[in-house]
Amino acid sequence: MNKKYRKTIIAGNWKMNLVPSEVKPFAEELRSLLPKTKTCEVALLVPFTHISTLRRSLKDNRISFGAQDVSIHEKGAYTGEVSADMLADMGVHYVIVGHSECRQYHGDTDFTVGQKAAAVLEKGMSPIICVGESLEQRERGLTMEHISYQVLAALSFIPEGKERQIVIAYEPIWAIGTGKTATDEEAQEVCAHIRAVIREKRGARVARSVSILYGGSMNPKNAKGLLSMEDIDGGLIGGASLKPKDFSQIIDAVAEVTGEE
Ligand code: PEP
Repeated sequence: MNKKYRKTIIAGNWKMNLVPSEVKPFAEELRSLLPKTKTCEVALLVPFTHISTLRRSLKDNRISFGAQDVSIHEKGAYTGEVSADMLADMGVHYVIVGHSECRQYHGDTDFTVGQKAAAVLEKGMSPIICVGESLEQRERGLTMEHISYQVLAALSFIPEGKERQIVIAYEPIWAIGTGKTATDEEAQEVCAHIRAVIREKRGARVARSVSILYGGSMNPKNAKGLLSMEDIDGGLIGGASLKPKDFSQIIDAVAEVTGEE
């Protein structure tokens, strides 16, 4: 399976960190460190309140902006929610859907995740659909079944012909924010499985074009190994994306892997 058919993406998930007045200094520091790779797309997925400032601060660079969640509803009496339309109007490109923290704390299910992915696609943006197993599921040998179901459930909401706009992030729950990373081989095994599930449902051409990211304590030390794996097309990075130096070193790792100058 050839990586040339898909995008390499390094996406930072800030979660609920920083305040809007910290965005500009962050952006300036990141700008000064912006790495050499040209083949990698960089995205920052930030709280809704930070999107406008970040967009203004980085507008001359090739960095995409994203949000971390979206409403399943189009508009109306849904106090506190943010719609796909609102995000598209702000110039957002990526939206995370189904992050394990949203599944755990905000009641997201495989079906609401699918609805959110469809809402994002409908407005011309790309959903980053997160899937991943718990430690117990891994220890009981249920990883592949669980991942298959999550991917199939999400795919059932994706219209034929729109698959190239989706991104899947494999994020083992036990590796998120814990400092524990899946080994290169463990991550590759699941990412290859995700691609096989897509191939089975939507065909080989679609499967080879969908970018699959790994997320879970990725950092400058382990990035190169993970990014070298055949079915891993980038990273979804939490903690390390809040440190411009670490984040830019992870982006640099893409250049090392692809042999770019
Ligand atoms: C994440 O939030 O998606 C994530 C992978 O976090 P961390 O890199 O901190 O484990």
